[in-house]
This record gives sequence, structure tokens and C-alpha cells, in this order.
Amino acid sequence: MDASSFPDELSIATPASARGTEAAGVFLEIRGIAPWVGKVDSGEQQQLEPGPAARPAPAIVYVRSPLARRYRLTLRRDGTAVATIPVRGNEREARRFVDQHQEWLERARERQAKRPRAAEVWTVGTPVLWRGAMHAIRLAVGGEKPQVSVAADVFRVATLEGDLRPTLEAHFARRARIELPARAWELAAETGVDLKSVSVRNQRARWGSCSAGGAVSLNWRLVQTPDTVRDYIVYHELMHLREMNHGERFWARVAEVCPGWREAERWLKRHGGLLGL
Ligand SMILES: [Zn+2]
Repeated sequence: MDASSFPDELSIATPASARGTEAAGVFLEIRGIAPWVGKVDSGEQQQLEPGPAARPAPAIVYVRSPLARRYRLTLRRDGTAVATIPVRGNEREARRFVDQHQEWLERARERQAKRPRAAEVWTVGTPVLWRGAMHAIRLAVGGEKPQVSVAADVFRVATLEGDLRPTLEAHFARRARIELPARAWELAAETGVDLKSVSVRNQRARWGSCSAGGAVSLNWRLVQTPDTVRDYIVYHELMHLREMNHGERFWARVAEVCPGWREAERWLKRHGGLLGL
């Protein structure tokens, strides 16, 4: 059903509540609001303040979520702030909520600006994230056609001229389509979850997702992350097949099968930018 946390959409705590709980589940909340009544426009986004990407008024997007129980403010990697309106919330409260957390938002933007970013163009020598660590692209010797290596893996390229990124990312995605389903089936067997199918996709905004019918989709970029992070996302989606929400019982199940989930979330938060998303 819902996606695993994508680094840009990890909920971020206020400075006060951040202490001690750096997990994904730290949400800000406004109490005492009147229940919001009406239809739920899941996933529909309204661009209410389309400020330019430059300094003046950065965009804030208000999104209604049938899964959210609280107001939440997150900062996407593209600099867009997303205010999530819970099922029983309303936009007026959401705006007030955003106003109250302007200072936090500014600090989050400052932090984001300092995070490492992936190189736009990849050539021999460019460090890229592969299997959890940064490795420079090297010329690989041998073979009739040109090839490069990234860590222990060798990839064929049509030419060494120009941007190697599209070719290498296609190679990475190909590896992912072999490795990720294999791992998902393995972990489904381990946890006894009734998994029906696994697909690997080029998702721009999520690490994984699942359907109530037992289908799990995984982002191919998980082959670039450490194994522990990849496994966490797989476990996360598998546990959704048991708990289709992000409630306490869901996180308890995740913690049971994947005790290191918090570190994995932290890794995703810090390194998402290196994945070129
Ligand atoms: Zn989830």
C-alpha cells in the first residue's frame, strides 16, 4: 500500500522532539482540531504557493494523506516543503502549523544544502555510490570492448567518451532486477510473509511500495545502498503486507525482523542525495 520512506519525505522532527527519537515516526501534531469531514483525496497534490526555486518564497505543497494521523512537515530534496494534512485535519490548521515551524524549516534547508550530492556527469574517476560505498569509476583492462569497473564489478560501455551515467545506471538497474527479487523472496520465506510478486522499478519518489494483494515493488537504486539498508526496505514492505499502515504495531513488526531499521532510515536520510534522486 504505502511506500517506504523515501529520504526526501522522511518526516522530520522539530528541534525539540528530535532529541532521542530520530526515527521516521516523529511527527508534529496540533491538538484539539475539529475533525475534518469529507472525501480523502489521497495522493493529490495542490501547489498552493508556487514560489520560485530561488530565495524568496520557497514552495510549500499541501498534501492530504489518508494514512497520516498528524500534521507533518517534511523537506524534499528539491527544496519543496511538504505539509501533510491528516485524515481529520484541514488546510487552515496545516497553514498555521507551517507558520509555527518556519524556523525549523529554515534550519532544515540549511542542513540540506550541506549534504553531499551525486555528480551530474559520470566519467572515469567520478566517485559513485555502489553497494553502499563511494567508489571511483575505473578503466577496466581486458576485453575487446571498452569497459569500466566500479569496486569489484565490471561493466561494458559503448564508449568512454561523454557521460557514462546513463549506461552505468542501466547496468545497475539490470543487476537490481536480478538481485532484489531474489532477496525479497528470501526474506519473505524467512519471515513467513505471503508474498505474491516482486517488481523492480525506476521510482523517482519512493524506495518501495506494496499492494494489499501481496505485490511488492522495489526501487532499483537499492543496489547502490548498503545491504542492511536494502534489507530494511524489503522488510518494511513485507511487514506492510501484515500491517497496511505506519502505526505502532507496524513499527513493532519491523523492529522485530529488522532491529537496525533506525540506522537504515538514518542512512537513507543522509545519503539519499548521492543516489541522484
Ligand atoms: Zn511504509
